[in-house]
Amino acid sequence: MASRNERAAIVSIGDELTIGQSLDTNSKWLSERLTEIGLTVVEHVTVPDDREWLGATLRRLCEACATVVVSGGLGPTADDLTRESLADVLNEPLDEDGDSLRAIEAWFARSSREMPRQNRVQALRPRSGVHIPNPNGTAPGVHVTVLGAAVFCLPGPPSEMRPMFEAYVRARVSPPEGRLIRTRVFQTMGVGESEIAQRLGGLMARDRNPLVGTTASAGMVSVRIRYEGSESAERVDRLMAETAADVERLVGDVVFAEGGRPLADVVIDRLRRAGQRVATVESCTGGMLGGAMTALAGSSDVYLGGWVTYSNEMKGWLVGVGHDLLERHGAVSEEVAAAMAVGGLERSGADHCLAITGVAGPGGGTPEKPVGTVWVGMASRGVGEAGGVECRRFLMRGERETVRQWSVTSALAMLDLRLRGRSELKLLRQQAP
Ligand code: ATP
Repeated sequence: MASRNERAAIVSIGDELTIGQSLDTNSKWLSERLTEIGLTVVEHVTVPDDREWLGATLRRLCEACATVVVSGGLGPTADDLTRESLADVLNEPLDEDGDSLRAIEAWFARSSREMPRQNRVQALRPRSGVHIPNPNGTAPGVHVTVLGAAVFCLPGPPSEMRPMFEAYVRARVSPPEGRLIRTRVFQTMGVGESEIAQRLGGLMARDRNPLVGTTASAGMVSVRIRYEGSESAERVDRLMAETAADVERLVGDVVFAEGGRPLADVVIDRLRRAGQRVATVESCTGGMLGGAMTALAGSSDVYLGGWVTYSNEMKGWLVGVGHDLLERHGAVSEEVAAAMAVGGLERSGADHCLAITGVAGPGGGTPEKPVGTVWVGMASRGVGEAGGVECRRFLMRGERETVRQWSVTSALAMLDLRLRGRSELKLLRQQAP
């Protein structure tokens, strides 16, 4: 376990978080930053807008950790209680900070609004604290020492909190001298987490440094290599490289990317390098595959566009799927997936076309085609015979959104394998037709 100096904790404040109305994304972001810096984050705590509860939480965390980063509760309303809680814990009065008051007034003046009286409370800070400037809002942050721990309180809105962390907090938190943290992540697809763990074997021993761990999500398993310690940089680099080579040797055949990049990003990169373009034809995903491609800036040079062909009529009108095919095999079938992909390829002029047709549920399943049955078709120019058409059937478990998301991932993974010349590899959840 890391020492107190190396430990950090993150506190998120707000009733909207504890009742489940909004998702706490600040903790995730702050954790990534603190870990990058080299601190060991030992707790994320979410507390309601409650002065005593926050006070007790701060006391407990400041005893255990040298760094505590707090977000939320710095607004002007009666339920914004971070300032008061800090003052309670420190047993200090709240003073008005003249510079902050002028900054808040200037902020309102810039937006040509009169400052409501209520906003004046945002200029308060505990006597021993200093304010952290907020260029994007009215709430200054507070930097204060509590029980020997550095406490940084930042406003809740991510657009205010993040720049304040970068401009102020980052330079004031540092890991104890000589401490190094290194992380590498490999993303795999096509084998389940238990098989990955079995293949990695002794590499996953918990007393190892670098530590190797796995995380599964939406059909992918990531393998994380993480070093935390104080050995020399050369030795750490060597240990990381040796462990990475072992990981590659054991699971390299199913690795599609290193780092945390989305699969669409990886595929777009490969297409760009190959000078190729892709189009899409989607039924049950209703445009989500196209959405995943267009979510990435600059994808227009490789993604041509697509069709959402939800009904049988549209499958016929837009990409020429024959009525007889639909009658004979049904919309969720190998034949229709292939026809959608070929139709899209011909009409778009792309090098590849991905097509998705499936039963996303919750209704619509049959014994032969249960909910979660998804066919992905892929047609490519100049690959093998018959336009290189390849279709795979997947049986996905989960709710409608999971099935749809997973279908998008599976389609992207098929193209990824083709672009890597590894189409012989199976994909997780793929079923024999
Ligand atoms: P403000 O002066 O803007 O009100 P504040 O510090 O009082 O700042 P809160 O009122 O606690 O902030 O939260 C304002 C908004 O910030 C929330 O409605 C929410 O959209 C966002 N927010 C707060 N906390 C988080 C969090 N932990 N993760 C993501 N978003 C958050």
